[in-house]
Amino acid sequence: MLRPIGQIAAPLAQQYGTSITQRATGLQRTATAIWRSLQGGIQPVQYANGARCIKIKVGHSGKTFGLGRQQDCVAKQPKLRTFSQASAVTNESVVSQRDDDAGQVSGVQTTLAVSITRRGVGLHSGVESIVTLLPAPAGTGRSFIVEGSNQSSQEIPAHVDYVSDTRLSTAVRAGDCTVQTVEHLLSALQGLGVHNVRVQMTGGNEIPLLDGSASGWVAACKEAGIVPAVDGNGKHVERRSRTLKEVVTVREGDAWVAGFPSARPMLTYGIHFPQVPAIGGPHWYTYTPEEGPGTSFENDVAPARTFGVFEQFEQLRVAGLIKGGSLENALVCSISKGWLNPPLRFPNEPCRHKLLDLIGDLALAEVDGSGFPNAHVVAYKASHTLHVKFAKALLQKM
Ligand SMILES: [Zn+2]
Repeated sequence: MLRPIGQIAAPLAQQYGTSITQRATGLQRTATAIWRSLQGGIQPVQYANGARCIKIKVGHSGKTFGLGRQQDCVAKQPKLRTFSQASAVTNESVVSQRDDDAGQVSGVQTTLAVSITRRGVGLHSGVESIVTLLPAPAGTGRSFIVEGSNQSSQEIPAHVDYVSDTRLSTAVRAGDCTVQTVEHLLSALQGLGVHNVRVQMTGGNEIPLLDGSASGWVAACKEAGIVPAVDGNGKHVERRSRTLKEVVTVREGDAWVAGFPSARPMLTYGIHFPQVPAIGGPHWYTYTPEEGPGTSFENDVAPARTFGVFEQFEQLRVAGLIKGGSLENALVCSISKGWLNPPLRFPNEPCRHKLLDLIGDLALAEVDGSGFPNAHVVAYKASHTLHVKFAKALLQKM
């Protein structure tokens, strides 16, 4: 189990002797100074060869460093390499597990501590459904469980390979079962770093819109509690962040999404509504998941609500969409009258909501708890269709 970083020294002295304790204390000081994090922990690891290492988890991002006798780790674990920056700071042999093909180890996979239920109406179907978020074993990822037409239940992985519809929202399908409008829930799970969860659907097959943002799902996950997940053997499983290796672009008309290799994740969204003066633009918003104190998915991205243009609603209703939309669960803007249900939560709330959607759609490219890719992803006037197309392209280049 991960222990609070402030409780390192005493138990380590008992288990590992003073030399490793001193290293751990040194790294603790370094970690505190660099990341100034309130969250973190320590996980002793004993390899099959008897070599003892210690993983220090630092910060909300879950960066993990191994700490131990370098010769043991390198000799018996060929994928371990020296993390020279931390080594220089602590003047000790600090190693980080790396595997260039499978991504960089960046913590352990998580799940929810207990199950939690929310109910609400779907934006497009207008049907109420009950959603229960269930803890899931490490390595199983995220999936939806939905009742099929013959009373049997079907499990649908939250993965781009199962995407069946991207008109105004994203749906996944397996067999004769579909789950609609998965993006806000997936955005919350990705934004908070919940890697393994089963989403049980009852009553309807559309994820409830709640207040139009991802805040309700963030609150549900936090209420349930986010904890390290264990596999079938009761072991924690490493999560591996992926790094984009080359530039990826997808485009449709003047809309596009591009990904650039980057040392850390960044997401930028641009919108432009010259025909709707109250929105106008172009507006740009950048979110950096690992920026540290003062920036968080919960406060900066999750509260941004779905928005729509009033004059387009009739057309969408005729097409059988937005049956569950209302002034309570979506921001509505009129071409002639401006915002019909202010105030906005942020001056650029529509732009932030598009970034929320992008995070939810990119979560469909998740592998082994990979989380946000080490890439700067920039989207402009894009749609769910383009987000998903980009997520597929991204998987090919990491
Ligand atoms: Zn949305």
